[in-house]
Amino acid sequence: MNCQLCQNELDAYLEGTLPQGTGIQVAEHLKKCSVCSESFQLLTLANKVMDAEMKVQSNPFLVTRIMAGIEEMENQSASFQHIPAYQKVFKPILISVSLAAAIFFGVFLGSTYLSAESHQRIPVELSYMNDAALESIDLFSQL
Ligand SMILES: [Zn+2]
Repeated sequence: MNCQLCQNELDAYLEGTLPQGTGIQVAEHLKKCSVCSESFQLLTLANKVMDAEMKVQSNPFLVTRIMAGIEEMENQSASFQHIPAYQKVFKPILISVSLAAAIFFGVFLGSTYLSAESHQRIPVELSYMNDAALESIDLFSQL
């Protein structure tokens, strides 16, 4: 038996599914060949690791605990929605008060600006100006 044949049969040899004659040949080759016995040891190790990982089962209570945690969070948020009964009253009041304050402030600001403007006198020359005469449509039609 050569190395390539031996390597091909290693899986079946490990599982014990090889015909008896082939199994004996593989075992004899493994005793003689260090390369193949090394890869056989690696394969055995890999199988052990995979077996160990398959034995690790998920905690059956994990799902229950997560679902209970989610339910608890939902209950808490539901109870938070119950608390602001006073907020239902205060929030519209606060909004309308701030809106009224903003409107009052705007009217106040506008009235002070207008009163400051009205104090200024219009120059006399401006009252003599005729805007209609400054830019007549006839002027544009001649162009
Ligand atoms: Zn070999």
